[in-house]
Amino acid sequence: MQFRDLIRQYQHLKPSIDQAMLQVAASGSYIMSEAVTSLENRLAQYVGVRHCITCANGTDALYLALRCWDIGPGDLVFVPDFTFFASAEVVAMCGATPVFVDVDSRTFNISPDDLESKIASAGTLYSGTPRAVIAVDLFGLPANYDAIRPIAHKHGLHLLEDGAQGFGGSLGHRRACSFGDIATTSFFPAKPLGCYGDGGALFTDSDEWASLLRSLRVHGKGTDKYDNVRIGLNSRLDALQAAILDVKLTAFANHELDAVNQAAAQYSSLLAGSTQCPCIPDGYTSSWAQYTITLANPSRRDQLRQQLQTMGIPTAVYYPKPMHAQTAFAKLPPSDCPIASSLAQSVLSLPIHPYITQQEIQQVATALIQRFR
Ligand SMILES: *Cc1c(COP(=O)(O)O)cnc(C)c1O
Repeated sequence: MQFRDLIRQYQHLKPSIDQAMLQVAASGSYIMSEAVTSLENRLAQYVGVRHCITCANGTDALYLALRCWDIGPGDLVFVPDFTFFASAEVVAMCGATPVFVDVDSRTFNISPDDLESKIASAGTLYSGTPRAVIAVDLFGLPANYDAIRPIAHKHGLHLLEDGAQGFGGSLGHRRACSFGDIATTSFFPAKPLGCYGDGGALFTDSDEWASLLRSLRVHGKGTDKYDNVRIGLNSRLDALQAAILDVKLTAFANHELDAVNQAAAQYSSLLAGSTQCPCIPDGYTSSWAQYTITLANPSRRDQLRQQLQTMGIPTAVYYPKPMHAQTAFAKLPPSDCPIASSLAQSVLSLPIHPYITQQEIQQVATALIQRFR
């Protein structure tokens, strides 16, 4: 069994993907081609925002958003303590300081209450100007934007949605990557919508930020690429990846998102009562980047993982270390994020993807339930 079976997905989509890749090879147009522009239009329409700007990866997407807002030395950016390293790394890459915020124990997403309290105490612990909040749609579930947006805007902070794992999720009638003033995603192969290498995108309704982002991603270009009006970077999506994503977006919207939701529902109905299953609050849907349970007996997590592995069941721990405990951030003032610290000890992610079978889910659930008795 694979944790996320990308080969099985390829086998399902092979004729269209092969054709798309060969078409790019034959076109002679490999960078910033029609394939890229047409994908950007489709992605913007799917998400429900005015602009999509693709780029080289999800980390660059976050970095470009912070650069677009001119965030740099002397600025503070609030980031959840329980996330992938890149969400906080980009703040430091800009020369700004990340302030870690604890998460909700059930949704794993940034806690609105702790955000308020970390904003209130930032002035005494840090020297710097609060500028932005990064909310992460962890494991595919959108963050609590109804609570977070008013807090951010009340304090004059930009809201950046890190939707690297969230693409395809929703809250009410709106899709993930439409909740931030700018939102980002990643097309890393194992994300809900992945390509065959690195890729990323930004989403925004602002015409002004969209044109600034388009300049920043190509060396700060002005009227053309040899007119450079600001310092930018080289962060483009390859035409080849755009062509692959065009095929994958159709499959994602037509059946994969439904299939992965059915897989998650089957896990939850089998595991309910035996362990703490992921919590999807009313009005939300997840795109199930991960299916993550919380163990009642964390001290046995390693042993449990080994037992499952010997049965051919792969598992993963996202994430074993909260941000504030990362060596790279050792020089920052100490952060108080007890829930993130406890989740790092007790979470366990199970195999899930749109092509997992009911039998495979049954096998994982049975193995777990036997060991929880
Ligand atoms: C994967 C990921 C990123 C970074 O995306 P890359 O494409 O790998 O650079 C950022 N944030 C989160 C939450 C992620 O899961």
